[in-house]
Amino acid sequence: MKKARSTDKSKPQRKKTPRKPKKRFTQTLFRDWCKACGICIAFCPKKVIGKDDAGTPEFLHPEDCIGCRFCELHCPDFAITIEEHSKSSKEATS
Ligand code: SF4
Ligand code: SF4
Repeated sequence: MKKARSTDKSKPQRKKTPRKPKKRFTQTLFRDWCKACGICIAFCPKKVIGKDDAGTPEFLHPEDCIGCRFCELHCPDFAITIEEHSKSSKEATS
């Protein structure tokens, strides 16, 4: 026998919380410092970084970057920097 669905209206309804806007990050590669070791590619949890034909890293899916900075922290040559996008122009002070 199927159990009847509860229609208890005395329970408090869970309120939907507004979603925070997704953070965006800018990735910068200093090609002159990069030795194409591939460590950044291996450490990126979101597979943002791939290789170009020369084996140099390139940011294939920058919109998927979560700003974890694993690439920046593990690069032995300090060839990557990650920066959060600045706030919207509305919030910027003139
Ligand atoms: S970890 Fe640094 S040196 Fe190695 S491929 Fe990535 S950017 Fe280049
Ligand atoms: S910050 Fe994290 S997610 Fe973004 S490119 Fe680097 S390792 Fe990948």
